[in-house]
Amino acid sequence: MFSQAMLALGQKRSVIREIFEYGNRRKKEIGPENVFDFSIGNPSVPPPQALTDALIDLIQHTDPAALHAYTSAPGDADVREAIAKDLRERFHARARGDLVYMTAGAAASLTITLSALCVPGDEVIVLTPFFTEYSVFVAQARAKLVRVPAAEGTFQVDGGRLAAAVNAHTKAVIINTPNNPTGAVLTEESLRTLADVLNAGAEKYGHPIYVISDEPYRELVYGGVKAPFAANYYKNTVICYSFSKSLSLPGERIGYIAVSPEAEESENLFLAVCGAGRSLGFVCAPALFQRAVARCLGLTGDLSVYDRNRTLLYDAVTEYGFRAVKPDGAFYLFMQSPERDANAFCERAKKQELLFVPGDDFGGPGWVRIAYCVGTDMIRRSLPAFRKLAESYNLSGCQKTSF
Ligand code: PLP
Repeated sequence: MFSQAMLALGQKRSVIREIFEYGNRRKKEIGPENVFDFSIGNPSVPPPQALTDALIDLIQHTDPAALHAYTSAPGDADVREAIAKDLRERFHARARGDLVYMTAGAAASLTITLSALCVPGDEVIVLTPFFTEYSVFVAQARAKLVRVPAAEGTFQVDGGRLAAAVNAHTKAVIINTPNNPTGAVLTEESLRTLADVLNAGAEKYGHPIYVISDEPYRELVYGGVKAPFAANYYKNTVICYSFSKSLSLPGERIGYIAVSPEAEESENLFLAVCGAGRSLGFVCAPALFQRAVARCLGLTGDLSVYDRNRTLLYDAVTEYGFRAVKPDGAFYLFMQSPERDANAFCERAKKQELLFVPGDDFGGPGWVRIAYCVGTDMIRRSLPAFRKLAESYNLSGCQKTSF
């Protein structure tokens, strides 16, 4: 008999994947140009040229046996040091190469970190709306997921609600800024509130409470907004990073964990990360891409495309009468469903060939996520469908909500 829990997980595809697969079938039926697929967070801009140049150079000028060999389990020492140096230089963070662990993307960073931190009975707080896979990752670490709503309309940390959720079992809080699905960027004030609440909780219950900062969208911010660097506000922080979005490399599976040198027992915590990586089989992240990303730290694909899409889409949908929150980062627009049931709204949108993801699984019922990491041309072509959808609900007027 194999694991019934894993069977159930394998049988239940994520809602995002369901809609994405529906979109692929529909594109075959009516032509790809007639389906407006806003379901999935696959970057639409190519990686920067520097990444391609780095790959070519590495392949042409490195001994292939060495290039494709195992690195040490936590990653190549030079790569880890380069990442720490980049964090020190760009964010004035107190990072150390020997506390960096290379991973196969943010999903691996999160599962390893949760396994390193949690024991059965622990609780991990997520701020809703949140990235749906956290439920799976937290369950895998045999911890309990506790949902705490972010502040309405702004999606910032609500200190009162967070403080009410912290108890003797709280091991960690996962934050994600810029956020999937809302596009919200946590402000300095939010990060200070978070730190105050967790410091008070740690004091009261006599053990550290960690922040797991899931940062795959760290560089994707627009309109002059700067995303404050979470680890600079709270010492017990573990950064979970991925190059999937910043360098448009989701299929290559590369990212890292950086344990803050200021965290209590940081060296033992790092060893627990190494142990969890080993136990989960996540050792020696893809070697070629470890070296390629080390040459592109701080670079991104062409973010102006996402910025343009953001403004185009937000201005149009609010003009048609939908209520949405203008995103400051990532590449998702969170839009309120005009009817209570966002699933019913998504079904109606499908009739206009518009594919959105209902907010329910993100812990945001009554809202939908629209991934605008698509071609600008597709957004332009989709606007009449958005207008028709709004008309079908008799919406009118401008519904802008700003942070
Ligand atoms: N965390 C968030 C908030 C995400 O949106 C994603 C992917 O979309 C991940 C983690 C997983 O990223 P990766 O593809 O690097 O595993």
